[in-house]
Amino acid sequence: MKTIGLMGGMSWESSALYYRLINEGIKEQLGGLHSAKLILNSVDFHDIEQLQHSGDWPGTAEILSDAAQSLENAGADFLLIGTNTMHKVAPQIQQRIDIPLLHIADATAEQLLVDGIQNVGLLGTAFTMEQDFYRGRLESRHGLNVLVPDQDDRSQVHQVIYTELCQGIIRDESKQAYLATVEKLRDAGAEAIILGCTEIGMLIQQSDTDIRLYDTTSIHAAKAVEWALNDL
Ligand code: GLU
Repeated sequence: MKTIGLMGGMSWESSALYYRLINEGIKEQLGGLHSAKLILNSVDFHDIEQLQHSGDWPGTAEILSDAAQSLENAGADFLLIGTNTMHKVAPQIQQRIDIPLLHIADATAEQLLVDGIQNVGLLGTAFTMEQDFYRGRLESRHGLNVLVPDQDDRSQVHQVIYTELCQGIIRDESKQAYLATVEKLRDAGAEAIILGCTEIGMLIQQSDTDIRLYDTTSIHAAKAVEWALNDL
């Protein structure tokens, strides 16, 4: 079994989910007392969030590249960045390491394409919903047609992520708002919805709606289990 390096803490709420999902996946495949070989480097999200919102992406890249290097030095065979948003600096991180990075958007897009979905709604931080590193990658690299909420809804989805979900706060009012946004995306032509933020699965689940949800945390974790048990 390969050793997974997880860059976590963004937020730690979702890192806890990753840890559980990856171990459950290994146990499901190997049975008995098997568990994942995993090294976690968990950063202080306060610092990352401040740098994100002041536009200092090189600053975030520096912190995460150091974390990635330490995971490689500690023996990780491949890396996961446990957040969609911070894939913005995935190229800078990859440059500093010699082990592969399992990209969350690629893992998600592959699953959508296997399921025959072309038109997909995307929920996540404003960075994820609006910028090329994520939305653009789904479109240009994978040929998906990506629909995002309107400006007001994007801003609400973004706010809820930082002021509630990343702090472990789950409010029914926010759940209803997210579900209303999901419905608008469906009306606009989405065949499925990407939960493109690693905490959104804490707020809405498949049982809340009959449109298919693609939870990036679960997909990323499942792909990591696959990589850990197979040749890279
Ligand atoms: N975990 C979230 C994501 O998947 C947001 C936190 C962050 O800004 O990294 O994008």
